[in-house]
Amino acid sequence: MDSLGLTVFSFAFWGLFVYLFFKYIYKRNPSNRKLRNLAMTNSQKAMMTRRIRFYNKLSDDQKNEFEKRVMNFLADKTITGVDTEVSEDVKILVAASAVIPLFTFPYYSYPNVSEVLLYSGSFNDRFETDMKSGNRNILGMVGEGFMNGKVVLSRPDLERAFDGMPHTQNVGIHEFIHIIDKADGAIDGIPEALIEHSYAVAWIGEIEKEVKKIERGKSDIRPYALTNRAEFLAVVSEYFFDNPEKMQSKHPELYEHLSNVFRQKQVFK
Ligand SMILES: [Zn+2]
Repeated sequence: MDSLGLTVFSFAFWGLFVYLFFKYIYKRNPSNRKLRNLAMTNSQKAMMTRRIRFYNKLSDDQKNEFEKRVMNFLADKTITGVDTEVSEDVKILVAASAVIPLFTFPYYSYPNVSEVLLYSGSFNDRFETDMKSGNRNILGMVGEGFMNGKVVLSRPDLERAFDGMPHTQNVGIHEFIHIIDKADGAIDGIPEALIEHSYAVAWIGEIEKEVKKIERGKSDIRPYALTNRAEFLAVVSEYFFDNPEKMQSKHPELYEHLSNVFRQKQVFK
């Protein structure tokens, strides 16, 4: 296939991906709640303006919608500091992490998330944060088994991700991308139904191209993306939402794919 054919093919795939994915989650969650009209205070809005670059770029109407979605998330979910104090501002940063990736889509209330747990720092696989615990390299996690329905985040790393500066890493967005990926039952980088679909070839081709660059050390996408396809999706998506300008200049094709998937052209015209 020539490169134009491949481009058309891959865009067709992404269109289908988005369509089937949302058809699926809406069918699966008829109880997906309506967006209630919950207002935010001026000081909360000022905090978001200072810290959340995505919010800052929105029009006034879009900001209003963003605020409502954040307040609905906070009204519906429990956010708990396990070994750390959690301020109202930090709770807003958690909610923003959930709102940003799906902002261009009809309101989605994350029915498969009940609680977000915050820790005082990075943790190990037993959720230990103290200095004696050895390998504490986990910044965030989506709960499995008895932790199902929970998202775990390191509070300082979440706060760093939303300090008003561009980065290529954002632990909050990263974990909520996994939750979105998991909505079909498996965290695998693409909804399960589509993996069998022949169109998946285009996305896998894009992953493989980027993976080769990362392996050759020719990419600023962090090597954690090489773990598996789910991590690839989460790592490139957090980069995309945290610093779209940089991704567009360094990875124009990947940027194009992600812009289409997350419908960013509808927001930032
Ligand atoms: Zn991950």
